[in-house]
Amino acid sequence: KSEMKADARTEGLKLTDNAMCVLERRYLKKDKQGKTTETVEDMFRRVARTIAMGELIYNPKADVRSREDEFFNLMTRLEFLPNSPTLMNAGRELGQLSACFVLPVDDSIESIFDAVKHTAMIHKSGGGTGFSFSRLRPEQDRVGTTGGVASGPVSFMRAFDVATDVIKQGGTRRGANMAILSIDHPDIMKFVHAKDKAGVLTNFNLSVAITDKFMQAVKDGVDYDLLNPHNGEVVSSLNASEVFNKIVHMAWKTGDPGIVFIDRINAYNPTPQLGRIESTNPCGEQPLLPYESCNLGSINLSRMVTVSGGQNTVDYKKLSRVIKSAVRFLDNVIDVNKFPLPQIDEMTKKSRKIGLGVMGFADMLLELGVPYNSENSIKLAEEIMCFVNDEAHKFSSELAVERGVFPAYRGSIYEKSGRPMRNASCTTIAPTGTLSIIAGCSSGIEPHFALCFTRNILDGTKMIEVNPYFERAAKEGGYYSEELIKSLAEGAHLDEVDVPQDAKDLFVTAHQIVPEWHVRIQAAFQKCTDNAVSKTVNFSRDAGECDVAEVYKMAHARNLKGITIYRDGSREDQPMSTGKAE
Ligand code: UDP
Repeated sequence: KSEMKADARTEGLKLTDNAMCVLERRYLKKDKQGKTTETVEDMFRRVARTIAMGELIYNPKADVRSREDEFFNLMTRLEFLPNSPTLMNAGRELGQLSACFVLPVDDSIESIFDAVKHTAMIHKSGGGTGFSFSRLRPEQDRVGTTGGVASGPVSFMRAFDVATDVIKQGGTRRGANMAILSIDHPDIMKFVHAKDKAGVLTNFNLSVAITDKFMQAVKDGVDYDLLNPHNGEVVSSLNASEVFNKIVHMAWKTGDPGIVFIDRINAYNPTPQLGRIESTNPCGEQPLLPYESCNLGSINLSRMVTVSGGQNTVDYKKLSRVIKSAVRFLDNVIDVNKFPLPQIDEMTKKSRKIGLGVMGFADMLLELGVPYNSENSIKLAEEIMCFVNDEAHKFSSELAVERGVFPAYRGSIYEKSGRPMRNASCTTIAPTGTLSIIAGCSSGIEPHFALCFTRNILDGTKMIEVNPYFERAAKEGGYYSEELIKSLAEGAHLDEVDVPQDAKDLFVTAHQIVPEWHVRIQAAFQKCTDNAVSKTVNFSRDAGECDVAEVYKMAHARNLKGITIYRDGSREDQPMSTGKAE
């Protein structure tokens, strides 16, 4: 009977074919024969019910049923979705609900292989793992107990990579890893070149942890010291500009390594008394302390537009209501989560970090008639994210009054300001690779990749998509034709086809947007984001290394916490591509 009610209430739930395909493959419950045993409504009900049960921890008399309905509506209206592990695992045996983890790797065989094992356990449940390998002694260093020589960080990374390969066969989704190495580690050049050959370390993103001191050395054109982490001794020195140029060269060639500005990340560490941040999660948006985890969730901005005075505008009232529910939802996730390790349980519950972000930004811009690469878009980005951040902090404060401050509050940045907070961080901008498919919106804060494209998802399945806003505008504007769609699907850019100039300006796609605008949008969102921002800065195939160097310097100057670039055609297994569908 309750299922019928649920179905009746979700009459409006409209999912795209792509969304259904993704959900059926990995998210919906299946029996032993592989037959799907729950509907999408059942899935959202299962998640809403499980997360609402968290209320009882604080108030045994809480009205769980109405909270469940609130969360259910939030998701079925596609206004907010929690990260994939929550959708997949809530109310099921695994019960692991977070996407982001960082594990410590200390300079011993025991610690390294404990981390490999813990990585496998996390990947099994759909979480991604980040590590700093900076504490490992360099290659060729002495090993005291055996008298032999050490293999160094890059060799050990292979063990994590192979473990990831093995687990991904049976896990809920492909495990992803981030490897970070400090710029002053003696093996830094080996690390920078680690993904030079195709097909190696394919389960890793690499990032060099760059210090402000190093950036200054690049500016001054001077040498800097490499330190052995095992004993702190200066091993040798390198020219900072040469190292910087090598990093740029490899990023230009392969997309890896990215860079993280580790001093800036630590300047914003909300709980410095618990230790220094050394790593982020795989896609770079979530800096975490060793053994910390974070659950993310994203608001679909394309659902936050309303008509007022005959014009489309941002519906801030609705946005505020969604933020309020989402903060509560994400805080509850921490309590009902089944963490893969007791250390992770303990660390995560000390800081209670959550990562509320947005997706569908590019869709929202289309609805508002604002081109992605315009001053108005920068203004909107700042305005919206600062609103999300301020409201999230306000509601986290309210939760602190109701439930208590996060346990590591003393010594945190919030104690100094005197503001009670339930969560040491509230906001993060995730890539929303799968969530955006489920919600049927543009991913994260990225521009549209193309107006018509083939999407490679999961195990090599391909899907064709035509941007619905473009389709509608083209039909209304009277310039829609089969030939137009066909030539766009085959890779033509909008400026090469016959459409009105205002449509060319508005429907600008990733490749037509010069890197500077990508960085400016990222910076606009970072300004009001507690954690970091997932964003790819796209370069055209013919971009030079100097263009990449320029963007890296700009990222530092504009206060980003890190940056990832992608030059078209530089990697074979590109996650998305334009061109004719097969
Ligand atoms: N992630 C992962 N494997 C994947 C995709 C994502 O481990 O195949 C983790 C990783 O930590 C990433 C985070 O999930 O940074 C968020 O990614 P995204 O927003 O794309 O995930 P979604 O919630 O949309 O599935």
